[in-house]
Amino acid sequence: MSFDLLKECENAKRIGISGHVRPDGDCVGAVLGMQMYLRKCLPGAEVKAFLEKPAEIFREIQGYDGIDSAFPTEEPFDVFLALDCTADRLGEAEKYFRAAHKTVNIDHHVTNSGSGDINYIRPETGSTCELLYDLFDPDRLDRELAMALYVGIIHDTGVFQYSNTTPATLEKSARLISYGFDFPRLIQETFYQKTYVQAQIMGRALMESIRFMNNTCIVSVVYKKNMDFYDVEPSDLDGIVNQLRNIEGISCAIFMYQTDVQEFKVSMRSDEKVNVAEVAMHFGGGGHARAAGCTMRGNFYDCINNLSLHISEQMKENEGAQAD
Ligand code: AMP
Ligand code: MN
Ligand code: MN
Repeated sequence: MSFDLLKECENAKRIGISGHVRPDGDCVGAVLGMQMYLRKCLPGAEVKAFLEKPAEIFREIQGYDGIDSAFPTEEPFDVFLALDCTADRLGEAEKYFRAAHKTVNIDHHVTNSGSGDINYIRPETGSTCELLYDLFDPDRLDRELAMALYVGIIHDTGVFQYSNTTPATLEKSARLISYGFDFPRLIQETFYQKTYVQAQIMGRALMESIRFMNNTCIVSVVYKKNMDFYDVEPSDLDGIVNQLRNIEGISCAIFMYQTDVQEFKVSMRSDEKVNVAEVAMHFGGGGHARAAGCTMRGNFYDCINNLSLHISEQMKENEGAQAD
């Protein structure tokens, strides 16, 4: 699959870029990294980035303050790029995608079958930022751009811990840190550090978690009223599902938070026994084999019953799978 990013954008006067709703580190790094790169390589073009307001922890990435989270009416873009998602996860930015003269979809989700005129989907790549590293001309990298891509790589690989980390991921990351940004601080402040209330609500979610299916699965839920009590937003709940996944004997961890009456955002993490991308797809979501998500309607018990059915199917299918 050959794809020449700059060729796809040549002659474009106005280029728009966006990523998925509730943007994570990979999404923010990719959108801002792409913006930096296109501005550098195509100085004649106007390049704009649109995203739901990303968490404050990402404020040091160049371009953070310029992200448009108001989604104003715009003339159709000549090229609009959807990064780290399918077009239907762009949220309010989907209107720009639909109206654009040309659409480009760059992603690494295995569940993405391509929603642009031009699609560059690499499920074997651990993050969209790693994929952008491959697409960008290495001579055009600089410290700020390297830092943006590095943020995405560390967030989607759990700081090089998950099985989507390859020797190539580490080689690329080694080249990125050679640009001299303060990577230990970046890892600490964007990935590990929690505010006091974030730690409190995580503690509560862990304490109230329930194991099921012979203690191989675990679930925890945070309701709207809990979020109001602690005055937290969805992004404050990042990391809870990973903690659940760390518990001994757990093959599938589920974390849910309420988004509306009878509606929950569901996050799943698993080991080789369960392909959670398959589970999430049954409910209109998607993701990766070991990290996926979806939105479900019904009460907590309805959701768990429906999920369990598909999780146990996965376990049966993958019986005998060896641990990595
Ligand atoms: P999360 O549990 O939200 O951290 O998401 C885990 C992975 O699944 C990430 O790569 C997400 O981009 C992806 N994902 C989450 N929700 C959805 C969804 N509704 N549709 C497609 N992919 C999703
Ligand atoms: Mn993402
Ligand atoms: Mn990603």
